[in-house]
Amino acid sequence: MTVLDSFRLDGKVAVVTGGNRGLGRAFAHALGEAGATVAVVARDEVANGTVVDELTTAGLRARAFRADVGDRGSVVAVAERIAADLGRVDVLVNNAGVCVHRPALEVTEDEWNEVMRVNVDGVWNGCQVFGGQMVAAGGGVIVNIGSMSGQIVNRPQWQPAYNASKAAVHHLTKSLAAEWAPHGVRVNAVAPGYVRTEMTPIDEPRFRRHWVDDTPQQRAAAPEEIAPAVLYLASPASSFVTGSVLVVDGGYTVF
Ligand code: NDP
Repeated sequence: MTVLDSFRLDGKVAVVTGGNRGLGRAFAHALGEAGATVAVVARDEVANGTVVDELTTAGLRARAFRADVGDRGSVVAVAERIAADLGRVDVLVNNAGVCVHRPALEVTEDEWNEVMRVNVDGVWNGCQVFGGQMVAAGGGVIVNIGSMSGQIVNRPQWQPAYNASKAAVHHLTKSLAAEWAPHGVRVNAVAPGYVRTEMTPIDEPRFRRHWVDDTPQQRAAAPEEIAPAVLYLASPASSFVTGSVLVVDGGYTVF
């Protein structure tokens, strides 16, 4: 096997939650280009279908599945549909996430609960449901999308629930990596810095000082610049990597 062959996912099935826009869309394209059949999982069925059309038009294999990752029953049901349609899942990318910008004393109970429901319960549901199948099958790979916000506190906007949720994603990643390594299941996380998506309005002038100027590379990333890190962790190229949090942030966290 050549080194580039070790990045291939031919014959594999990869699930990408939140795969219908932003970072998840770029991950779906990357995993598909590497040879995987991609299950795009999110709530907006029109957007899911658009990304699947993009992949199939490019000659790649993909299917759309509707689910709410924060709803345990929805995740169990979608796992059953994916198993019936595509067979065994080899790769899970837990990417779906939400963010609320609000000072701590103004965060409502509903906002706190929704961030935790999607970002923490959603990752937990994906890991336990699909990870259970992987442990039973004797192998698999999980890539959780954390954030540099799990390591630093962002400025100028306050986002306490989001930051806490991403720290939880990182430590859940390490906990499951330790527990499931003997079963052949690797669990890693990617911690992106600022990436231009609907979640992150990079171009608003009020954010430039801290989001762009404070980044050593002096810019935000495109989603396609995070996707290779996900492919690395999803593929045999990272066969001796588990429990890692791979920071991809243009240098933001060095200061
Ligand atoms: P977007 O807001 O652009 O996309 C979020 C995705 O998550 C959508 O596909 C959305 O689809 C899906 N989603 C949201 N809630 C649910 C739910 N309950 N069930 C299923 N799917 C859901 O965000 P990004 O692409 O920017 O972010 C993707 C991930 O990357 C997130 O985990 C985010 O925290 C992380 N991240 C982003 C950074 C950035 O700067 N953009 C930086 C660091 C980390 P739908 O609404 O149709 O369900």
